[in-house]
Amino acid sequence: MERFDVTIIGGGPVGLFGAALASLHGMKTKVIESLPQLGGQLYTLYPEKYVYDVAGFPAILAKDLASQLIDQALRYHPTICLNQTVNRLETLADGAYQLYTENETHETRTILITSGLGSFTPRKLPQPSAEAFVEHGLYYFVPPLAHFQDKRVLVIGGGDSALDWTLAIADTAAQVVLVHRRGEFRGQQSTVNQLQAHPRVTIRTFTECLEFRGQGTLEEVVLVDRQTHAEETLATEAAVAALGFLPDLGRLKEWGLTLQAGSIVVEGPMRTSRPGIYAAGDIAAYEGKEKLIATGFGEVGNALGHIRGYLDPTKRGGLPHSSNIKIHV
Ligand SMILES: Cc1cc2nc3c(=O)[nH]c(=O)nc-3n(C[C@H](O)[C@H](O)[C@H](O)COP(=O)(O)OP(=O)(O)OC[C@H]3O[C@@H](n4cnc5c(N)ncnc54)[C@H](O)[C@@H]3O)c2cc1C
Repeated sequence: MERFDVTIIGGGPVGLFGAALASLHGMKTKVIESLPQLGGQLYTLYPEKYVYDVAGFPAILAKDLASQLIDQALRYHPTICLNQTVNRLETLADGAYQLYTENETHETRTILITSGLGSFTPRKLPQPSAEAFVEHGLYYFVPPLAHFQDKRVLVIGGGDSALDWTLAIADTAAQVVLVHRRGEFRGQQSTVNQLQAHPRVTIRTFTECLEFRGQGTLEEVVLVDRQTHAEETLATEAAVAALGFLPDLGRLKEWGLTLQAGSIVVEGPMRTSRPGIYAAGDIAAYEGKEKLIATGFGEVGNALGHIRGYLDPTKRGGLPHSSNIKIHV
């Protein structure tokens, strides 16, 4: 089995920057990501929001930041494995590790955990009729926006991500109906104002979905007004359930690492309680921790400086400046 110097668990912003740094500094690097795409929370939770606090970008859409990070990482050709969740860990006789996902085994000398909030499990719709249409018109993970071109779309939810997706989908869709069971949204009022003024958006508060219908793919949704109990059948070619995601550390909890409130406790240079296993980004906990992208970038640099020294004791002393490396740009 091919052995890697460092295997990064999680392809969010911190894991991606880690992949760029590790490969740039000559480490044989692999990234394992449980979702079908890289980008972590930037892509999954708030792709259409601007981020203002990442160094070098006065304002950048989260999805654009994710794609810059992906470009930066891929430039140095790390191995990327998508659609695989790391579950189990085994220590080999020489101190290296084997990582198990649902369909593969990976061998690595060190591990860098950048699994953020854990693997994202979407909150599911309670209506039993919804299940048959998942990925057949009903989406918990939003497909590329071109998918909604000229369609009648329903978005379900009342938080920031429901509001953001409604606004984004309205760019291409024929019409978007935003359904929320309460009277008030939990997201930004400025986005609600934009949606209220949008010619192709209808907002339905105090409204719930009763039933999802169609022959193979979604065709209509029955809505009910929670105040009047009036029912209405809406022709709908696509629906997005933006009800939030449940963070789950999954089986990483069983690895014997020191945990604190669902995060992995690190000390010194982002070292966990097991040799050769490091953590950075949202998953890493220490006193005074700020969960920010900028913090994660610094942490992953620290972690990799020490991983490099762990892999080759002649290289202790941190990462050399990249400006001293000869790279064809
Ligand atoms: C609405 C919102 C707005 C935000 N705005 C800002 C902002 O303006 N500025 C800022 O600095 N921060 C912001 N944040 C926080 C920021 O997004 C996080 O700090 C950042 O995403 C953390 O990056 P990460 O790489 O550590 O983790 P994540 O982005 O959570 O990525 C972790 C990745 O690991 C994968 N994964 C998890 N478990 C496994 C496993 N077992 N096997 C394989 N893969 C796994 C996940 O699928 C995910 O892709 C915001 C967060 C939210 C929700």
